[in-house]
Amino acid sequence: MKLDILAFGVHPDDVELSCAGTLMAAMADGKKVGIIDLTRGELGTRGTPETRLTESSRAATIMGIPIRENMGMADGFFQNDAFHQRKVIEMLRKYQPDIIFANAFEDRHPDHGRSAKLVADAAFLSGLRKIETFSNGNLQAIWKPAYVFHYVQDRFIEPSFVVDITAYMDRKMEAIRAYETQFFNPDLAEPQTYISSAQFMETIKARNLMLGKRVGVGYAEGFNTEKTLGIRGFDGIIQNVT
Ligand SMILES: [Zn+2]
Repeated sequence: MKLDILAFGVHPDDVELSCAGTLMAAMADGKKVGIIDLTRGELGTRGTPETRLTESSRAATIMGIPIRENMGMADGFFQNDAFHQRKVIEMLRKYQPDIIFANAFEDRHPDHGRSAKLVADAAFLSGLRKIETFSNGNLQAIWKPAYVFHYVQDRFIEPSFVVDITAYMDRKMEAIRAYETQFFNPDLAEPQTYISSAQFMETIKARNLMLGKRVGVGYAEGFNTEKTLGIRGFDGIIQNVT
């Protein structure tokens, strides 16, 4: 099944925290969207890989995204090498997305930068016909995605562009709260972490609020692109930029 947008995150919850609103907005425009989690987040301090899997599938249901796969790479230890690139190329040739979302090139968690490079490199290599990959024994057709957009997640990075997610902010927070072992949950007897405070949840909204303010909307998510973004018209351009 061909998708319009495929969103990669190295940990289940990266996509929710960073680009959930954009994915929901794209779906409202009729785009076909899927999520690929590279790892099961098994090194996370709280919860287990099993709870993470249940939580990520609940979050996908809340966002209304029917396709979500987990590649089972090793959290913390996966590499941007030929083995892992081929795995990502197989996914890209399977879903043939025009646009890819990926982690930020630099972020608090070192996995994020490595994942960003892995996905970006695989996106380029996926278009090379001499790299052969197979699905159920059948040679896959090459696929050249048009763009890889890297979402702003934890560390603030000046974005290349922002997407208005005002209509989806509440549902984004609901999808994040689906990870009940990871984020603020006063009923849980697990160690406190960087992301488990009530304040952390506020910072998500605050980030989106500040990015929205830039362009005169309620909330927005930010992205960076290495390739120059080309547009065919001005219909989607926000008019009331402050
Ligand atoms: Zn992460």
